Amino acid sequence: MDHLKRISGPNENLSRDEAAWRAQTLHVHSYEVTLDLSEARDSSVTGYRSTTTLVFSAKGTTETFVDFIHESIGSITLNGEAVDPTTAVTGSRIYLENLLQGEASPNTLVIDGMAQYSRSGEGLHRYIDPADGLTYCYTQFEPADARRVYANFEQPDLKAPFTFTVRAPREWHVASNQSASRVEEHGDGTATTYFAPTLPISTYITAVLAGPYYVATDSYSRTLPDGSELVIPLNATCRTSIAEHFDAQNILDLTKTGLDFFHELFDYPYPWGKYDSAFVPEYNLGAMENPGLVTFTEGYVFTSRATEGQHETRANTIMHEMAHMWFGDLVTMSWWDDLWLKESFADYIGTLANDEATEFTTAWITFANRRKGWAYVADQLPTTHPIVADITDLEAAKQNFDGITYAKGASVLKQLAAYVGADAFRDASRKYFRAHEFSNTSLNDFLAVLEDASGRNMDSWADAWLKTAGVPVLGIELTEAGGMVTAARLTQSGIDPLTGNPITHPHVLNVGLFDLVDGELIRTAGHAVELTGTGVDLGFLAGAQRPDLILPNDGDATYAMVAFDDRSLETLLGHLGTLADPLARASCWAALWNMVRHAKLAATDFLAAVRAHAESVTEVSVFAFLLEQAHTAIGQYLPPELRAGERQALADAIVGWLDRAAPGSDAQIAMARALAKLARGNVAADVVDSLLAGEQRWDSLVVDEDLRWALWQAKAATGRLDEASLAALEADAAAHPSAVATSGRLLALAARPDAAVKAEAFGAAISGHGVDGAALSNEAISATAAGFQLGSHELLDAHYAAYWPSLEDIWGTLTIGLATRVIRGLFPASQDLGTAEVHPVVAEVDAWLEEHPDAPRALRRILLEERDALVRSLAAQRLCVGHALHELGAAR
Ligand SMILES: [Zn+2]
Repeated sequence: MDHLKRISGPNENLSRDEAAWRAQTLHVHSYEVTLDLSEARDSSVTGYRSTTTLVFSAKGTTETFVDFIHESIGSITLNGEAVDPTTAVTGSRIYLENLLQGEASPNTLVIDGMAQYSRSGEGLHRYIDPADGLTYCYTQFEPADARRVYANFEQPDLKAPFTFTVRAPREWHVASNQSASRVEEHGDGTATTYFAPTLPISTYITAVLAGPYYVATDSYSRTLPDGSELVIPLNATCRTSIAEHFDAQNILDLTKTGLDFFHELFDYPYPWGKYDSAFVPEYNLGAMENPGLVTFTEGYVFTSRATEGQHETRANTIMHEMAHMWFGDLVTMSWWDDLWLKESFADYIGTLANDEATEFTTAWITFANRRKGWAYVADQLPTTHPIVADITDLEAAKQNFDGITYAKGASVLKQLAAYVGADAFRDASRKYFRAHEFSNTSLNDFLAVLEDASGRNMDSWADAWLKTAGVPVLGIELTEAGGMVTAARLTQSGIDPLTGNPITHPHVLNVGLFDLVDGELIRTAGHAVELTGTGVDLGFLAGAQRPDLILPNDGDATYAMVAFDDRSLETLLGHLGTLADPLARASCWAALWNMVRHAKLAATDFLAAVRAHAESVTEVSVFAFLLEQAHTAIGQYLPPELRAGERQALADAIVGWLDRAAPGSDAQIAMARALAKLARGNVAADVVDSLLAGEQRWDSLVVDEDLRWALWQAKAATGRLDEASLAALEADAAAHPSAVATSGRLLALAARPDAAVKAEAFGAAISGHGVDGAALSNEAISATAAGFQLGSHELLDAHYAAYWPSLEDIWGTLTIGLATRVIRGLFPASQDLGTAEVHPVVAEVDAWLEEHPDAPRALRRILLEERDALVRSLAAQRLCVGHALHELGAAR
């Protein structure tokens, strides 16, 4: 094919074929990148100067192209000759001709232009602190936004050493992947920081941080096997205005704990020099593994009370990113098809580190309950895909950071470790780093080391688990006579939605047997089982008394949903609160939730179980998640006529729990937050008012920033924000300006059930611009859209008419990150759903998809997923209707 075919337009996509062609024909020797952020504090200045010197050799081609999403291009010089930008530049591509050939004659390309400050969290994001007016910058590039900051070959397999130089206000903290080699101060109040060259890395993990950040420092050292001393300077940074809340030493200590763990496990010294941890505002994701400079969401600087669950999640993220220093940064996937090669591993090994090396002993429980929930949801969408994906271009790559790539992949690796043994897994990892350091790999490279280490052929395992989609479902078939089991079988069902083939994966797992003993569910036995194909006989059950509960994936070693037998389900709904084993308990709750989503268990039954049994869940992360699920069940999986009653019942239950919760406990704050969210639906108004008025309703409950804004939102959404309360809300926001208050206020204001308010909020969210014409940031768009969606369908329906005709324009004009927030955020799903045979919104999505067959695949994917969620809700609602009728019939 013609890889240099020029297309007009922004040209921001890049195909796998184009990238493969460049990888075959180019070898990049080095990048020098100079950024001038001297004027960053002036918000009327939209861009900054970016100069890149790229040295690369070419083989078999005299032409290529470079990527640069720019504000303007001043000059292009190739091997000392000026290139005319008016002919060379098409959108974000710069086409080059007359390349020198061969390794011995590298080309030197200098591109001097202006790049733009970002408000979308992609590229170089600029943030003005509402608390003190200070300006902060940071970069975020994965998968392909380095080209928003400097000119480059934007693909993971053209690695090179990078030398960054950054000019910025003199008092700023300026950081990059490497340490600074020198700083030069200028007379105009600015300084230039020259960074040392990096080892060879991919563009998407380069990084720059610049602003008046608060910095805490520390150091890590260890003696390596060869007797040498490895010293790693550490720091942790956040905005100055939230530094009083920043437990930097905790972050630094966890970092040291992790460095010990990974050195022991991987037996490969940390290669990147220093290790900075930067917590940054309006971040689009949890964290990013830039070598030497990891960036984290500022949500991990706890300005409000943080539960043990939140601390555990943060520690998990720290370990996840650190695992990437090896899996991802040192050895990198060649293309985004194999994104799992780093994300699944980091997710699995990060959780392993959290479990084995830190104080958080519940890491695998949270994984079983929360993280895997994400995977099961994604794997049931019509857009699911194999773990090893088929990623044809960058738009598809951007969407591949999903529940399959992370959580399903990690679950499958956990099963792999059970399958080949932890030692083989570790040995394979060690060999993999040595064999592929500073280069790129694909699936077969990992399978090769794994086969070596385990002595097993991994082809059929990999085909089954990595190259198919869909969730296996484990069930129990049982015959009995006189209360005794005569035969029992563990079954596997489920269909790969992409091929229609039955799922017959190999599993190594435990089957747990539980009985009610003195009113408590006790595990009486556990049996290791190897399952292949459609089922295996459970000989150990034959001749035994039928257990009250059979849990097919006890211990959560494998990735599968569970279809409980009737007796087990009955036992769980009646007695789950008495099951003391926390992992089994969390697994059972997760399985019940899957059944609700699958319309196999009525949401009313799930909600009854939550009211009866959730209070006994001792892990706050699981407990808080259950309350979120209950909230979702009420809003989506119940027919409209049952919602008010069920919401009131749950609110009453939570108030009862709060009355007896331990003062100041994690459970207390989790309950209060859940109640505040529920109160958006017109329950517990008295609680909202009394807490906002500063009354001490429950001993030691602190109404902190997070809780206070949740309460304001509830008051606003229920139409109870009169003039005086609105003034109080504004006074609160003005007295305590912060990132949380900014988003919290926007959401609350947009939540007011008022036609004019809704019109303004919809207009702002769909255009990405406020009434003053200023572009909204990523977080402002999401808060505005979320506030808009709170309201009855009578209030909202009229606005959705403008949604469908705007979709292509939104996709075409906003960055993919912003467009995704707008399109998902405003999807017309919050209206009261009916159970009509053809739901009006489903009809509208179908019509749009039919009329736009050539719309970008990534845009179609979002709509298909939203449609699926809606259809799933409708099925669950119908089950409740049928269920209620059934109960009425039974009562008669
Ligand atoms: Zn990751």
